[in-house]
Order: sequence, then structure tokens, then C-alpha cells
Amino acid sequence: MRSVATGLILKRKLADFFYTCSRRRVLGCFSSSSFGTVDPRKSNGRGGEEKEVPHLPVLIVGAGPVGLILSILLTKLGVKCSVLEKSVVFSRHPQAHFINNRTMELFRKLDGLAEEIQSLEPPVDLWRRFIYCTSLSGPVFGSVDHMKPQDFDKTVSPISVAHFSQYKLMNLLLQRLEKLGFSVCSPSEIEGSIWDRKILMGHECISIHPTNEGLKVGTSYLKEGKMEEREFHCSILVGSDGARSTVRKLVDIDMKGERNLQRLVSVHFLSKDLGQYLLHERPGMLFFIFNPDAIGVLVAHDLDQGEFVLQIPYYSPQQKIEDFSFKDTFNLIQVCEQIILKLVGWKLVDVQVLDIKPWVMHAEVAEKYVSHNNRVILVGDAAHRFPPAGGFGMNTGIQDAHNLAWKISSMLSGIASPSIIQTYEMERRPIAIYNTSLSVENFRAAMSVPAALGLDPAIANSVHRVINSSLCSIFPPSLQKFALEGIFSIGRAQLSELILNENNPLGSLRLSRLKKIFDEGKSLQLQFPAEDLGFCYKEGALVAECGEKRWESEASSVHKRDLRPYIPCAKPGCRLPHMLINALKESSAKASFSTLDLISGDKIEFLLIIAPIKGSYRLARASMMVAKEFDVPLKVCIIWPKGSSDKNVNSSEKELEPWKNFIDVEEAVKPTSKSWWELCQMSSNEVILVRPDEHIAWRTESNGIADDLLELKRVFSLMLGHGKFLL
Ligand SMILES: Cc1cc2nc3c(=O)[nH]c(=O)nc-3n(C[C@H](O)[C@H](O)[C@H](O)COP(=O)(O)OP(=O)(O)OC[C@H]3O[C@@H](n4cnc5c(N)ncnc54)[C@H](O)[C@@H]3O)c2cc1C
Repeated sequence: MRSVATGLILKRKLADFFYTCSRRRVLGCFSSSSFGTVDPRKSNGRGGEEKEVPHLPVLIVGAGPVGLILSILLTKLGVKCSVLEKSVVFSRHPQAHFINNRTMELFRKLDGLAEEIQSLEPPVDLWRRFIYCTSLSGPVFGSVDHMKPQDFDKTVSPISVAHFSQYKLMNLLLQRLEKLGFSVCSPSEIEGSIWDRKILMGHECISIHPTNEGLKVGTSYLKEGKMEEREFHCSILVGSDGARSTVRKLVDIDMKGERNLQRLVSVHFLSKDLGQYLLHERPGMLFFIFNPDAIGVLVAHDLDQGEFVLQIPYYSPQQKIEDFSFKDTFNLIQVCEQIILKLVGWKLVDVQVLDIKPWVMHAEVAEKYVSHNNRVILVGDAAHRFPPAGGFGMNTGIQDAHNLAWKISSMLSGIASPSIIQTYEMERRPIAIYNTSLSVENFRAAMSVPAALGLDPAIANSVHRVINSSLCSIFPPSLQKFALEGIFSIGRAQLSELILNENNPLGSLRLSRLKKIFDEGKSLQLQFPAEDLGFCYKEGALVAECGEKRWESEASSVHKRDLRPYIPCAKPGCRLPHMLINALKESSAKASFSTLDLISGDKIEFLLIIAPIKGSYRLARASMMVAKEFDVPLKVCIIWPKGSSDKNVNSSEKELEPWKNFIDVEEAVKPTSKSWWELCQMSSNEVILVRPDEHIAWRTESNGIADDLLELKRVFSLMLGHGKFLL
């Protein structure tokens, strides 16, 4: 016991070192530290002279969705932070639009963000389908519905998935940040003494140097036509700066995986006419269009507003991005409108092209998520880049931020050791590796449709490789481009009505192959319930059960795209299963709520769930005692069977004496449904300890422990990274 206490004092000192006030006076000349210098650029050298440098506990680089979510979560947990953003305006390119179930659960805790999205998103009947056709007005090969009745019945989750454009989400996040006291500042607006709760626009992170006190971060910004530099000091730097992350490069972390899977151009455009036509005639989210003149995928972001993004594959260097460039308006109209015309099937009179963005599809995960003594951390696209097939990119990034926020807060407040940051990588990196291969499989499944139509993209890629080979590259670029387009148009000719019809033996064979792909669910999928809600951490800030296989080995044994339902599970590492419950005590609050709501999104608090039985009450008392010793807020929840009355409350009060932080609830289930313990595949003797991110840290039989206090000290030590102090 003494060794734990000594350890905690040491940890508290360490935390004090990490947690510094928002503005400090530091020397402009920095001594070299054991970290070594990481940036090729030199400090701008104001040696010896004293200078005011803003100092923040946490500095976030990149104000994309992931950086903004992280800043909200940290601020709610009491951590001071600011965000650097290299652009002077927020991107309005719609990009992500599918928000998965788990992310929506997290959004429920952000001041009603999930409910606000639901009130603003298009009705589900307008986006539940993917449609495969020759043009938007031409024959339909297939139409696949991606929603199931159980998506709406709130059995496995209190909320459903959503379809909402990334830039609209960003607007809602900025509103929440404003309510939390954040301000968005341009370089000319930020002179002042308060440095936390700022989104510093136009500030590009260009260097990172370790110092004795933390990190020195160099930024550049444009002021009155001149590039200037500003330094920041921070204890922790989080790189949420996207797929081409500068932070990742500055700290020398490599990406591992497949590069350049596909090059595409995204054309963001508005057309009310097209929106109204599709809304009435064939509503859907994605339209895969294949015809002899063009191939593309149309993403309907909002049919009512007529907002679309068209994804067009292109092959460089023969097809050049300049062909789509905004610089040449004539070219823009020629290229984009003509492609839209070919894909839509008739001339739209109201097309308004807003933005054109080239992008490259990769499938890569960073080799490390954490470096420089737990001070530099990567999240979101900076840590992983997936094909956007299945909508895992932003969702995985937001869930990274959720995993990280409580750990940073616990470390800075002294509850946890700095080594808890390592558990962020241990938990989230395997998830990214898994989601990468799932996205690649899903992307390949998407390619099965053109392949069945006689348009194998693998052949297009190999033709492209041959043309790029040293042999062909001796030909002038114009000839290469001509050859490539010639071969592609021969390929696209396979899609002509002459071939693709039931009377043509080849066409009929291809159409029946296509039908089989759709009927067997082998085309691109939107939902992955087993992964979305069922992902499970195998090691990290938790006490793994004996005999648990590591994530990678288990993941490699399943065929990822086999659509598996989510099966609630209460093993350590899993998300707490959802069930509706009623509070027994508060007579005023009789409305049912989710077990997920037992965890507060606004503070660090652990939760112990027990059944109302002697052994579990005893373990709960021991947990409260040890939590107090570790300075960790802990609440106990006693789940009673359906139909238990308020008088039960008195027994919990007596059993848990003198501890007061507990809640008695009853299952609000239909008589035919499973009990909480059956749902979790547990016996009622078992108790579970849940972390502030709603993941289970520990599960045990309450009557199977020899020494409750000793066991709980082991559990809290492992979970919070204090393990070595027990040795
Ligand atoms: C066509 C398409 C469709 C997609 N659809 C989905 C979907 O449906 N669902 C889904 O979950 N995901 C989807 N994604 C992926 C999703 O868009 C990304 O995963 C998401 O944008 C990642 O967010 P982020 O905050 O990590 O990075 P980003 O959104 O890239 O933000 C990074 C920010 O950092 C800034 N920055 C960069 N370098 C610096 C620097 N040195 N200093 C300061 N600031 C810097 C950038 O300007 C940018 O604002 C899609 C992607 C594409 C391309």
C-alpha cells in the first residue's frame, strides 16, 4: 500500500511538471535536451534574450473535424488547449458524409450534437440506397438498400447512423467551441495575453523542438503580405493535420501500407434541377454510373439543396489535373460540365461548380502514434489514411480523439502516469490497421461491379502501368494520352446498350453476374455493425482476460467483409453494451435512458456495474476505497431486474455505507427481452469496471477474489499506468 502511495506522489509531481499555466515566461534560448533536435529548420535564434512565449498544456495542429472534436473533448474535461490551422478559412468541400453508429453515440454527449445532426440531415429514405446505372436517367443495373429495420429500433444503440456533410458538421463543432469560450482568430487578431481556447487560422506548423519543459513549436503566418514566424510552447502536441501531416514528417514517423490505389478528382457542384429529379425519381446516396462516354460516382450530399460531389478517376501523368483546374475557366466548364452531362444523361441548366479537388487514395497506417516521450501524438488522417469505402476515415479519427482525450486529461491532472498515452497507440493502432484492410476490401468489392460489366479496373491499371513503363514513356506525352484514352474508350464500349442487354449472350451473362453480386451483398457496403460498435481493445489501459488473443491474430482469421451483426459483449476492451434502464431513486426522472448515459462526457469518472448481491456490494465497497486512494472518481451502478421497486434503494444505501456515489437502476426491458446479464453474456455474480470512454477495463466474478483490496489496486495500477510502483 505504501509503495502505491509513494508512486502516486511521484506521479503527481510529474503531472505538475506537465501541467503548466497558459502563459509562462521562458527563455528564448533553449538548452538542448535529451530528446535531441527534430526539426531540420533552425530556431530563429534570439539567443539569451527573454521573450514572452505562449505556453499551453496541449497544442493541436489542424482544425479538421478530428482536431475540433479533440479540442471540445479536452476543454470539457478541463484541459486548456488551442488549435493551429494553416488555412485562413475552413474547407467547404463536403468530403465525409457518413457518420457511423459509434460516432453518433459520442456526439450524443456533445451538447445534443447527434440530435441536431438528425434534425438537419436529409430524411433517411433519401439516402439509404446505392444505385448502379448507365446514367441518372438511363437503365438501372441495381439498387441496394443499406438500412435494416434494426437500424431504427434502438436495440443495440440509442442512436442511428447519419448522412451529413463534413463542412456542415464542422460548422456545428465551431458553434460548440464558441460556447466553450473558443474564438477563431486571423493572424492580425491574436495579439493578446490569452492563448488558450483559440483557433489560430493561417498558422502553419513548421517545426517542433523538444525542450526541457516540453516542446517548442514553430509556426509561420502571413501578415500584411509578409511571412512571419511565431513560437509556442506546449507540454503535448497533437498532430491532427490530415493525410499529409507535417507533424508526422517532423517527428520522422513513416506510414506503412499500400499507396496510390486510385487517383480521383472531386467536383463539388450544385444543381437544384438534378436534386429535385433524383429526389422524386430515384433517391439515393451514391450513384455509380457506367456508360460508354464516362464513368464516375456521384455522391448526393443533399438532394433537396441539390448539393453533389462527383468523383472521377484519372490516370496521371497522361491525364493531368490541370485539365480540371480552376485557373482556366473555359477548361473548367468544358471538362466538368461535359463529364456531368455524360453521366447525368441530359444537360443541366443550373450546374454551379463550386470546387475541384484532386486526391489520391492510400491505405496506410503510421508506424507509431506517439513519440518524444509521450509528448507528440498523431490522430485522425495524420495517423491513418483509408480508401473512403465504408466511411471509416473521419469516424475512426473522431474515435481516436475520444480514446485520447480522457487519457490526456487523466495524465495532466495526475490521476494517470504519462505512460497511459502509450495505451492510446496500443488500442487505436490495431483498430486503424483493421479498418484499413476492411476499407481496402470494401473498395475492391466496389470494383467487382465494373469488373462484372467487362470493365476490369485492374486491366485499366495495368494498361496504365504499361504506358508508364520505360518502353512507352519514350513516346511523346500527347501520344501516350491519346493511346490511354483510346484504350479506355474501347473498354467503355463494353457498356454500350448494344452489348449490355438481355438479348446479347455476353450482355445477359454480365447482367446476371451483376445481379448475383447485389443479391449476395458482395458490392460496396455502407454499414459494418460488428466493427462499428463491436471493435474491442485487446491490450492497453485495461486488464485483459487470460487467454485473450491479440487483435491482429484474431482479425487476420476473419474474412473482414463477411457482414456480421454486432453482438453485445462485456469483455475488457469492448464498448459497454447499450440497454434501456430506469433510475429507481429519482422519482422525477422516470424516463428510460441508455446504460451508456451512466458515463458522463463532462468529467473523468469510472463506473462499476454490479448486481444487487452481497459479494458484489462487498467488491463495490473495496473499489470505492481503492479509487479514493488513487484519487480516481468512481460511481457504482446497481442494476436491478425489471419490476424492482424503490424500496430496494435502501438496501444499496446500507450495503455501500459510507459511500454515496451510486445509482440504483432497473432494466426497462420488454418481458420477452434478455436481462442485462444475459445481454452481456455474464453471470450476475460478475462485475464490470467501465472507463470514461465507455470501454470496459475489467471484468471479474465478485466471489472469486482472494483479496479484494489487493486485486483492485492491481486493476487501477494497470489501468492508469502505475503498474511499476506495485513491483
Ligand atoms: C471523397 C471522400 C469521402 C469521404 N467520406 C467519408 C465518410 O463518409 N465518412 C468518413 O468517416 N470519412 C470519410 N472520408 C474521410 C474524411 O474526410 C477524413 O478522414 C477526415 O477529413 C479526416 O479528418 P482530420 O481532421 O483527421 O484531417 P483533415 O480533415 O484533413 O484536417 C486536417 C487539417 O489540418 C490542417 N493542416 C495541415 N497541415 C497543417 C500544418 N502544418 N499546420 C497547421 N494546420 C495544418 C489542414 O489545413 C486541415 O484543415 C472521406 C474522404 C474523401 C476524400
